Amino acid sequence: MQGQDSWVVVGLDNGGNKNNATVLDRSKRFLVDRLVETPSRVQEGPDVAIEALVLALDDILQRTGVARESVRCVGLDSPGPASADGVIESRGSTNFSHEGWRGFDFRGGLEARLELPVVYNNDGNAAALYAHHVCFGAEAARHSSVSAIVGTGLGGGVIEAGHIIKGAAGMAGELGHVHIPMEGLLGEGQPLPHCNCGFDGDVESIASLTGIEKNLLPYWLLRFEDHELGKVGSLAQAAKLVRSYGEKGDCLARKIFEQQAMAIGRLFTIAANFTDPDAYFLGGGVVEAAPRFRDWFLARVRENTLLKEEQARVARFEVVPQLDMAGARGAAIAALETIHAR
Ligand SMILES: [Zn+2]
Repeated sequence: MQGQDSWVVVGLDNGGNKNNATVLDRSKRFLVDRLVETPSRVQEGPDVAIEALVLALDDILQRTGVARESVRCVGLDSPGPASADGVIESRGSTNFSHEGWRGFDFRGGLEARLELPVVYNNDGNAAALYAHHVCFGAEAARHSSVSAIVGTGLGGGVIEAGHIIKGAAGMAGELGHVHIPMEGLLGEGQPLPHCNCGFDGDVESIASLTGIEKNLLPYWLLRFEDHELGKVGSLAQAAKLVRSYGEKGDCLARKIFEQQAMAIGRLFTIAANFTDPDAYFLGGGVVEAAPRFRDWFLARVRENTLLKEEQARVARFEVVPQLDMAGARGAAIAALETIHAR
């Protein structure tokens, strides 16, 4: 049985299909050492999804032998777009397509149901916070970092003095939609890449799975006629296969990842001149690939990050650790920090 002073916080990472849960005690020790997932039922709307989160919380408490009364605060993270305080955008999104989600106060809804304080972050920011804490440990509050996580889009976050920069409207750290110079990055005759957000030539238009499908693959397939990837049913299917080709050293795939590494390096160069962080984290499938390919990619990103000599001496380039658990763990750290700040 937990005593009065042995309270914990719970981290709940809400995804399109699964919830991932973890428990963090007051001494910053995780009581769960692996991925524990339950169905998120997000597509069935907010009422069902909130009940699914309650089940995820009860399940993780049961597994760790912690009583519900010992939970002081819950950290919740989900994909965006949402406000800093967890209100889902009114125009809806891929992940929250059910009508009930439009303008729904996700954080407030879970808080009311649990009768416990709930702290919200978007999943990229939560993962960035986790990477920062793993890297700097007890010194986290004295350092800053920037994380770029390549997935369907390009997510991540900016951490300053150990805290997530959220911005006035909760829209800080949207690294995917930062414009980068395209000169020297695009191939001959390659059209300016378009992003789902409406911008042309931002980081996500290159460094994301969507960018591969919509912009990079269509161009490079014209340059590599008869490439096997051109014979795959659709561009969406072919885009998902590019990484495995990259791991094998395929020339077309390497061209694509070369451009992605350059885009991320240019983003990090902007970060270097903006907040001059101590660490640059890179996450996503591309760095969870075969070690030789991962090292090649990281080296290319680093090469394309233009740092001044003083910056290069102190900068750390790392991979976001345990990306599958990073959201839940970051959400839990944010919850613990909220308690300490009170
Ligand atoms: Zn964009």
